[in-house]
Amino acid sequence: MKKISIIVPCFNEEESVPLFYSEVTSVLKGLHTDYEIIFIDDGSEDKTFQTIKKISEKDKHVLYLSFSRNFGKESAMLAGFCNCHGDYITVMDADLQDPPSLLPEMIGYLDSGEYDSAAARRVTRKGEPPIRSWFARMFYKLINRFSDADIMDGARDYRLMKREMVEAVIAMSEYNRFSKGIFGWVGFRTKWLPYENVERAAGETKWGFWKLFRYALDGIINFSQAPLNIASWMGTIMTIVSFIAIVFIVIRKLLFGDPVAGWASTICIIVFIGGIQLMILGIIGKYLSKTYLEVKNRPHFIISEANFTDAKKIG
Ligand code: UDP
Ligand code: MG
Repeated sequence: MKKISIIVPCFNEEESVPLFYSEVTSVLKGLHTDYEIIFIDDGSEDKTFQTIKKISEKDKHVLYLSFSRNFGKESAMLAGFCNCHGDYITVMDADLQDPPSLLPEMIGYLDSGEYDSAAARRVTRKGEPPIRSWFARMFYKLINRFSDADIMDGARDYRLMKREMVEAVIAMSEYNRFSKGIFGWVGFRTKWLPYENVERAAGETKWGFWKLFRYALDGIINFSQAPLNIASWMGTIMTIVSFIAIVFIVIRKLLFGDPVAGWASTICIIVFIGGIQLMILGIIGKYLSKTYLEVKNRPHFIISEANFTDAKKIG
């Protein structure tokens, strides 16, 4: 019999956790298969952990891992992947924005042998501020154009994967994790299941506009060398243009002498070139700082408490 692992990253979700638990459990019970629900308490500051503990005492299907501090959703997902025991594995948000009702269909696709993963994809963004949707669309356009990752517009982290695929995801040990990119990068045959956006069951979103914006920038930098290429192309073009300008100025001096003029234009050019140099340095610095973080090779998560013995505590 197949075992299904559901990984649930939770950060301040005390109201959502019980709702999530009862809804998902009722779907899973109907499947007549073995399963586990792994809650990952990502350093919550409210009663999330106590709530999870209470549930786990009554139901042996419920496992938990508690982080020593908030490490972020990416780290929580990785900790779940490293610590799950199932054949089919998925990540779900605690707020029920990932409809559990899609699970049976996903399992069907994996069982059929035709697909290694079945992923949910929001086709509407109803209930979301329009400006946020616009930035999201721009982001997907940019990243697909300029990077080697293949990211579907509206893709969620909610996807059921076979163990082989999860092993591949774990093997990508980078510190700056961007799962949407990683899932695409590792390949495998994916079935996309469209669904309508669902609003949060309880609590508030943990992703403000700027946090999302930074996450999107990270995604582009992690999966694309395009900004570096643009920088070096800009440098090349500037060099050619200034070479032509030098030839022009020398010839003009030889032919017409050197009237003292053009101070304003000289300053403009200096300021312009200075600005471009700083911008390019900034881009290089961004990659360098990412490299610095990677080289330090720090763990992605530290687990302070778990209710099963074979848990990988630091990883
Ligand atoms: N989350 C987390 N750590 C964080 C932020 C969020 O584990 O630092 C979890 C959160 O509890 C939720 C999921 O990640 O289960 C998605 O977060 P949220 O619903 O706030 O994001 P949105 O759906 O609004 O994009
Ligand atoms: Mg959510």
